Amino acid sequence: MAYKIAVVPGDGIGPDVIEETLKVLDQVGTKFGHEFSYTTVLAGGAALDAFGIPLPAETLEICKNSDAVLLGAVGGIKWDTLPGNLRPEQALLGLRKGLGLFANIRPAILFDQLKDACPLKTEITEGGLDLIVIRELTGGIYFGEKGFKDTTMGKAAYDIEIYAEEEVRRIAIVGFETAMKRSKKLMSVDKANILESSRLWRSVVNEVAKDYHEVELNHMYVDNCAMQLVRNPKQFDVIVTSNMFGDILSDEASMITGSIGMLPSASLREGSFGMYEPIHGSAPDIAGQDKANPMATILSAAMMLRYSFGLAKEADAVESAVRKVLDQGVRTGDIMSPGMTLIGTKEAGRRIREAI
Ligand code: NAD
Repeated sequence: MAYKIAVVPGDGIGPDVIEETLKVLDQVGTKFGHEFSYTTVLAGGAALDAFGIPLPAETLEICKNSDAVLLGAVGGIKWDTLPGNLRPEQALLGLRKGLGLFANIRPAILFDQLKDACPLKTEITEGGLDLIVIRELTGGIYFGEKGFKDTTMGKAAYDIEIYAEEEVRRIAIVGFETAMKRSKKLMSVDKANILESSRLWRSVVNEVAKDYHEVELNHMYVDNCAMQLVRNPKQFDVIVTSNMFGDILSDEASMITGSIGMLPSASLREGSFGMYEPIHGSAPDIAGQDKANPMATILSAAMMLRYSFGLAKEADAVESAVRKVLDQGVRTGDIMSPGMTLIGTKEAGRRIREAI
């Protein structure tokens, strides 16, 4: 089969990790008889430098006309002083909105080989950790009305959290469907004791639950969830939550795995189209130095194979190749530990290809 992939290397280590990921995909193509074609497009700081805007219309168009999008990372100090609407990160918001990607899937997996990197006590994570945070991506406070007004306390700024029933329903369905494929446990996280938008969220999730009798649904307030994630993370399997709560909780969940350079993500809409990217940023401190861990991006490509192309066997091969390389006792700097051998981005990529 032939698959068209739009590739957005972005800024900083984005191009470093994307280069290795494409070579891994080529290896998958050779081994399993698929053809992956890539169209490289600009977004973020790279697009600001070339065109003066973070997301050129051509980039969005090419992404729309592809089977999936693979993204490195965007942003960097060079563009930090630009006004909000010209920040590189606007490219991410524009891509999510323009491509209709409303569900962000973030697995947080504690790899057995990296369990020492987990900042929690070993008895808390005994037996491993494997949970998924599903974050609503195109609604809520990040996209609500925002502005300034004068008050007796001086200038004030506001951002409005707003959710429509349909927005909640479709992300709840992703939550229940994901739970059905795993342990049939779903935790919906909100702040329904305070927020009207959360009360609507909770009632819609309860309504959707009627179609999923097999799934055990629970609700938790976001502050409690933040606490429970470090107290007893194994109680969670699939968490579904709003845009801002998901932004924060998914970072917390990934931190307990101790390795930002290892974690992939997928942003999906209805159907098979999706955008795949590592959870880390552009790491300008190590860009272009052959120091970045490419595994998060390579594992994002594995999610692309699984979710967008339906290539489960191929995705398994990539994921197991990553584990095999960790078993070889080699590590990039971000996951280095005593007794291991330090390797760079390219060597990590080469070993993963070889393992495939
Ligand atoms: P970051 O994730 O880029 O880096 C945090 C730390 O982790 C740094 O020390 C970095 O060297 C290290 N690190 C990150 N990824 C790594 C990898 N693959 N291998 C080895 N080490 C890795 O976060 P930051 O420093 O807060 O942000 C840097 C820039 O990235 C900012 O401009 C920010 O806005 C942007 N950013 C982009 C995205 C995205 O594109 N999705 C996400 C987060 C941050």
